[in-house]
Amino acid sequence: MNILDRYHAMDYGPAPEARNEADAWLAARDFGKALFIGGEWKAASGGKTFDTSEPSSGKLLAKVSDATAADIDAAVAAAAKALPKWSASSGYARAKVLYAIGRAMQRHQRLFAVLETIDNGKPIRESRDIDVPLAIRHFIHHAGWAQALDRDFPGHEGVGVVGQIIPWNFPLLMLAWKIAPALAAGCTVVLKPAEFTPLTSILFAEICERAGVPKGVVNIVQGGPEAGASIVNHPGIHKIAFTGSSEVGKIIRKATAGSGKKLSLELGGKSAFIVFEDADLDSAVEGLVDGIWFNQGQVCCAGSRLLVQEGIADALIAKVKARMSRLRVGSPLDKNTDIGPLVDLTQLDRVKGLVAEGARQGAVCWQPDAALPSTGYYHLPTLATGVSPANILAQEEVFGPVLATMTFRNTEEAIELANNTRYGLAASVWSENVNLALHVAPQLKAGVVWVNGTNMFDAACGFGGYRESGFGREGGREGMFEYLAAKLPLGPVIKPATISAQPVEQSDGDAIDRTAKLFIGGKQVRPDGNYSLAVATAKGKLAGEVGLGSRKDIRDAVSAARACKAWPEATAYNRCQVLYYLAENLSGRAGEFSARLVQLTGVSAKAARDEVEQSIERLFLYAGLADKFEGRVHQPPARAVTLALHEPVGVVGIVAPDTSPLLGLISLVAPALAMGNTVVAVPSERYPLLATDLYQVIEYSDVPAGAINIVTGRTAELAGVLAKHDDVDGLWVFADADTCAKAEAESIGNLKRVWSGNGRGLDWASDEAAGDAFLRRAVEVKNVWVPYGD
Ligand code: NAD
Repeated sequence: MNILDRYHAMDYGPAPEARNEADAWLAARDFGKALFIGGEWKAASGGKTFDTSEPSSGKLLAKVSDATAADIDAAVAAAAKALPKWSASSGYARAKVLYAIGRAMQRHQRLFAVLETIDNGKPIRESRDIDVPLAIRHFIHHAGWAQALDRDFPGHEGVGVVGQIIPWNFPLLMLAWKIAPALAAGCTVVLKPAEFTPLTSILFAEICERAGVPKGVVNIVQGGPEAGASIVNHPGIHKIAFTGSSEVGKIIRKATAGSGKKLSLELGGKSAFIVFEDADLDSAVEGLVDGIWFNQGQVCCAGSRLLVQEGIADALIAKVKARMSRLRVGSPLDKNTDIGPLVDLTQLDRVKGLVAEGARQGAVCWQPDAALPSTGYYHLPTLATGVSPANILAQEEVFGPVLATMTFRNTEEAIELANNTRYGLAASVWSENVNLALHVAPQLKAGVVWVNGTNMFDAACGFGGYRESGFGREGGREGMFEYLAAKLPLGPVIKPATISAQPVEQSDGDAIDRTAKLFIGGKQVRPDGNYSLAVATAKGKLAGEVGLGSRKDIRDAVSAARACKAWPEATAYNRCQVLYYLAENLSGRAGEFSARLVQLTGVSAKAARDEVEQSIERLFLYAGLADKFEGRVHQPPARAVTLALHEPVGVVGIVAPDTSPLLGLISLVAPALAMGNTVVAVPSERYPLLATDLYQVIEYSDVPAGAINIVTGRTAELAGVLAKHDDVDGLWVFADADTCAKAEAESIGNLKRVWSGNGRGLDWASDEAAGDAFLRRAVEVKNVWVPYGD
């Protein structure tokens, strides 16, 4: 055998990580008392346990207390008891606790890593080098936020008791993403890990005991969907933070509708990995290994759809197959292992089923010629080619080591294919041409975009999705807002509209009859149903009639809003100019609007003049902020900058209040427009003439057709149509409590972002009913990671 032969014959020897410390910890613990409530270790009140086992062998690891609804009650009570003192403690005091947690985790870093690998099956290299260090970084980063609350979040306070539910794919990291910002914000928590992977959360609770976390601030309960549902439905909880599947996310959105609970959802994905023909193919292949075979593909933001430019498809696929053949499948505790087992037999069966169905639908599924270990839930890395866009492997989140490949011809096609999914979590763009990459990134409907990289995370950079990947961000400034509530000035309780029941006397004027239509796509149009709604003056006389908008009119308005590209693509300066024009033209007709307010609402002439003046001022405010409410640049500990861009949410439905009918409408429409959203507004049902009088103001102000659409009619009915419409991205509802609750419940089709007043209006005249709190609702933050250096 010559040297070259020897070289080629060389193989990796076994390099197992020692597990004795972890086994000793497992043997010493009483898992029958695994609920950490109020600083005490408790058994489940019913005495029930569930099994957690080792994915690489199927062997039982522990029988863990299974929390009942009574245990969740006890945990919420403990969190509520601890809340006043914890939220009133100084930022410095909370920072010290967060720092102590991070430092204590560092001291037990290896035990965390080994336990995570044993319980979840992920290769030790990943838990040791990625999961655990990132979790620690999260606590240390958030120690800083605890002390910066007054500086960075004036006018905000912690939301209170938080219920947190996490999945099994990154048990410790997801726990850190949840608990660190909550504690920094002064909240107390009840957290439930996934039933497959309870172990590192139990070790974490021990760390809390040692790090001086006050009793009841962190409560960790164990159990499955039932325990999760008890948390979601508990009236003592002020916010739910959920990470998991889109299916369960929708159940939770529905269950919390009308409860007033704040909600953040980090859900599934089907992320595109786009390789242009000028990409460095070898780097792209290594990127793919991290993109889809990291954690066996059980990653929410896995680059599970490879989109490759036609001219390089064969070359890239050949390189991918060669690389796949060298991936080492084996014991997750071996330091040389690339692919460990899936978390559970049910997950393995699911992945196999999806691959079989994908093949049945025409995909060619290729796997390297490798032997699988004799025990455990292993699945070979799989490459599916010839995948049509409708194939199940291109559409469904497999959550396994399966890559679906499609080709594209040009940039437009790449973007279209990438966005052809109901999800919107992440995307990778590979090109040596940074101009091309930065041209594509803003056009991708995804919360995170990595340029020439993948799966990069940092505590300072927000992470989260668009569309059915959920809403809210974790990490950094945006993540902190999820645990804080802006102190907005509340207005009166809103009663359901009753106008239809009121008989309206004929008007006594002799003006020429004028019937207001709807305003859709820049034109005044008749309502589809050809019905009208009578509008009464404050004295009960007929003030005029407006169109009675219907489902069809809302659909037309949404289509017009979607088709309007001129507004979202306009420069911020251009939007600023148009909002100033609106203010200018409203000001020119201030007398007319004041008279209308007096006539309809019966307010004094002075109050009416004030409302019109404030409406003009508010348009001025948002005109001025249109080019100032900008994103940020983060500098994560990597050779990369992260551009946190503010993008419009998209098509926003606005259901405006009756109180201050002109000011309320403008206070909502102006910030949405300022950030580049297109709007479908349903004005006050009682006073719609204030909105229809605006048509001419809009027409004279250079507003592109479709940017503002106004549909008059019955609030409850039209709010429901907007809520159910899957092409509406955001919905702001200031209506009665029942209408608000229904809008939240009915929004689950596309998981649109709903902002509801929960049956309360705001004090629209107050200065606090304007500014950043509104603009923040009007944007999605997209984090674009751009690496630098050779
Ligand atoms: P899952 O939705 O089945 O379960 C997640 C958690 O919710 C578990 O703790 C489970 O016990 C609990 N749960 C289940 N049903 C519930 C109910 N009706 N009410 C309350 N709680 C309930 O998800 P999973 O299989 O554990 O995790 C995989 C999913 O998580 C994937 O879809 C993945 O994309 C997603 N994920 C998303 C992110 C992100 O940041 N976006 C991160 C990791 C994982």
